[in-house]
Amino acid sequence: MDIFRIESEHTSGLYTKQPIVFVRGQGALLWDADGNEYLDCNSGHGVANLGHAHPKVAEAISEQSKKLVTLFETFPNDQRAALMKKITSLVPELNRVFFCNSGTEAVEAAIKFARLSTGRPGIVASMRGFHGRTMGALSATWNKHYRSAFEPLVPEYSHVPFNNTERLKESVNDQTAAVILEAIQGEGGIYIADTAYLQAARRICSEKGTLLIIDEIQSGFCRTGKMFAFQHMEIVPDMITIAKSLAGGVPMGAVLIGPRVQGFSPGLHGSTFGGNPLSCAAANAALQVMEDENLASQAQEKGEYLKEKLEELNSPLIREVRGLGLMIGIELKQKVAPFLKALQDRHILALNAGLTTIRLLPPLVISKEQIDTLVEQLSEVLSSEV
Ligand SMILES: *Cc1c(COP(=O)(O)O)cnc(C)c1O
Repeated sequence: MDIFRIESEHTSGLYTKQPIVFVRGQGALLWDADGNEYLDCNSGHGVANLGHAHPKVAEAISEQSKKLVTLFETFPNDQRAALMKKITSLVPELNRVFFCNSGTEAVEAAIKFARLSTGRPGIVASMRGFHGRTMGALSATWNKHYRSAFEPLVPEYSHVPFNNTERLKESVNDQTAAVILEAIQGEGGIYIADTAYLQAARRICSEKGTLLIIDEIQSGFCRTGKMFAFQHMEIVPDMITIAKSLAGGVPMGAVLIGPRVQGFSPGLHGSTFGGNPLSCAAANAALQVMEDENLASQAQEKGEYLKEKLEELNSPLIREVRGLGLMIGIELKQKVAPFLKALQDRHILALNAGLTTIRLLPPLVISKEQIDTLVEQLSEVLSSEV
């Protein structure tokens, strides 16, 4: 069976198919159909924080699949209740949760909840921000490449420069339902929010009766050395959107909801698959692993180690190394595409973030030896122009 040819023939055309067929993963490694080994610094765009094929998650999925896979949220369930209890304990001020199936759905829900709660239409998002691809979330996303073909988008959205308190202050008024921000912009280039900026955003929102939504879909679940990235900046948002690594690789999204968000009544919003027992069981296992294996401190330590080594690379091509924990960007003075290709030829998978930044999102269980391999290969690839 020529897998690459079949996928290329039948794809929607929305994805550039790479000529490698992956069939298996373990920890930070992936293997292709011929048994060749690759080091995965993509983690499926930050999904596989626990590494691939984690035995605890695999067991939870297997066990739950034999008991109960689907159950609408009107009927309580043991796995869902356990997850509700656990997930709302992560940020004690936000003690309600809405479950869905992806990141964009979580953002979509948070925006609906903001309009519902405030009775206002306005959404202020940030330049370079990424929040997903369904219409409401896309309207908050900045990149024209994702937006232009689908206009007109949802009205009453505006975008302000990231880390600019003055401009944020000017943009939030008595018609603003919510401000939505990433604590670290992922897709946009690995830009970290200044602590003073997020704290000012919190103050401005509170003063104006506006809700503050923090999108932790990529930066959450120990990736940056804390459970959520905004916890570095010591603020309490009104809503947090989460997805990606929440359920150890099984599709799941959620919104954590604080006390200022009100107006809910049965049927106003919902999701058929949301909070299904299978995803909940996977998430319960994943959260337990994060705790048992101290994944946050692992990300913290390994991130520091990796960043130090990257800063020692004195390649003339590197403009800057940025990041927190194992969410790291290497900004180059030129486009990164050929370097990513060169890395892939050397069996290292990495992502771009914008045109000129290499984005590293390895599984948090990556070993020091694997980090050394990554740095070695990066050093060779970045030693000359491609
Ligand atoms: C990936 C991502 C999304 C969208 O998540 P999907 O599951 O792909 O819909 C939204 N916000 C951020 C910050 C992301 O990284």
